[in-house]
Amino acid sequence: MSIPKKLGGLIRQSGLPDWPEQFRMSMERGLEQRVRLAVTGLSRSGKTVFISSLAHHLLQSDQGRSLPFFVAASEGRIIGTRDLSTASATPFPLQQSLTGLQTSPPHWPDSTEALSEIRLALRYRRKPGLGRALGEHSTLYLDLIDYPGEWLLDLPMLTLSFEQWCKQQQALFASAPRAEAAADWISCQHEVDWLAPASESQRQRLAEHYRSLLQQLREPPHNLSLLQPGRLLMPAELAGSSLLDLFPIIRNWPEEPENADPSSLFTQLQQAYNEYCEQVVRPFYQNHFRHFDRQIVLVDCLKTLNSGEACFNDMQLALTTLLHSFQYGHNSLLRRLFRPRINRVLFAATKADHVTANQHHNLDQFLRLMIETAQREMRFEQVDTRCLALSSLRATEAAQARLDGQHLSCLRGHRKDTGEEIALFPGEVPIELPRAEDWNSDRFRFVDFAPRPLPVGPLKPEHHIRLDQAIEYLLGDLF
Ligand code: GDP
Repeated sequence: MSIPKKLGGLIRQSGLPDWPEQFRMSMERGLEQRVRLAVTGLSRSGKTVFISSLAHHLLQSDQGRSLPFFVAASEGRIIGTRDLSTASATPFPLQQSLTGLQTSPPHWPDSTEALSEIRLALRYRRKPGLGRALGEHSTLYLDLIDYPGEWLLDLPMLTLSFEQWCKQQQALFASAPRAEAAADWISCQHEVDWLAPASESQRQRLAEHYRSLLQQLREPPHNLSLLQPGRLLMPAELAGSSLLDLFPIIRNWPEEPENADPSSLFTQLQQAYNEYCEQVVRPFYQNHFRHFDRQIVLVDCLKTLNSGEACFNDMQLALTTLLHSFQYGHNSLLRRLFRPRINRVLFAATKADHVTANQHHNLDQFLRLMIETAQREMRFEQVDTRCLALSSLRATEAAQARLDGQHLSCLRGHRKDTGEEIALFPGEVPIELPRAEDWNSDRFRFVDFAPRPLPVGPLKPEHHIRLDQAIEYLLGDLF
């Protein structure tokens, strides 16, 4: 619902034609049922699949079949839905994702390399009661954006000077596995006089070396997350730009940087860092990361169990650090008008279909361990939080096997890497942090699955795991 015409007219006739645009927009935000949901996740955590599946199920929610725990839908109060994304300059490629999942053999959507947006309109019948005074029907507009997870990790850089950033990176590169993987690159830094005259090609060479180091750290066996600057890994339209010839100084930090030659590497890097923050990170933040009302934080816990303790610690630090970039707190009516804050956060462990149903509770618990610090900070701000294991798109089905006369819960599906059909017992998810020897013992080997074909017609509850509970928690009170 946009600002009612009558009220808009009143505002214009009231002798206050110069009301600041921001205030007018704030009024509009307050009056309309518009929700901006932040879908936050590191790279490969499952954002694109989540957004595709969420949108697809919600667009069918007027048929009320696939989301039994989403109360407004199961009560039959969603009376119509519409995808309004085509109005955006960068629409989310929903149809493309769905087509890939509906073809034979189906495939997962391509990983996100740029920013895209989706806006859904859900028309619903209000619950009997006071709200009906505002009319029997209303519309909720839901806005979501998808973006590469790598870019998200740049947001914390906005609060750091070049020197602070370098010191932070120095601490990270002091321990395993970064220290070993970066030994070569670090030794190059020993030889550099940062304050002496230097050419741009010197900086480019070192930046190129750093870029390939980041790529290596992102891939198995390391699977690290806290890799900055993120655009070095996913440059999009900045590919080839000198803004990306950037890396931290972690050895030989100059004692008197004020004596740096204007062409020195120190001056070049400091300038590149400031330009990167102001021209790349800040616009991304200001255009897309403010004014959220609700948030879902997607976490791939099983990846950390497969990859080991260093990956777990790194992901935990990355999540805690980047959540500081969002505004949390109590959302009073006035606050919602002028400076909305996130007042409800769902932490979701994705890909719950990689484990058997009896392990979902353990996955909830393990997620809780990972986001403990972030959750504690949010609770202090009176933010409602919850942990939930879910699967946006269920790729496996339950099976039973007999071993030594005992029934064993198994999963059946197709391997993502080979397409081969397998039935396996994926193992248990620990509810406490594994001991050092367990991390290193190859105890956890959760397999990635290819998607099962999605029907072209109506969806059913079996196409996801607990997606409806996530929707009910995040949006249910708004209907
Ligand atoms: P993004 O980088 O955060 O956008 O991650 P994507 O949404 O592209 O997901 C990355 C990969 O995770 C996909 O290619 C799938 O292999 C896997 N994945 C994501 N969601 C699910 C899910 O619900 N179930 C299963 N089995 N795999 C998933």
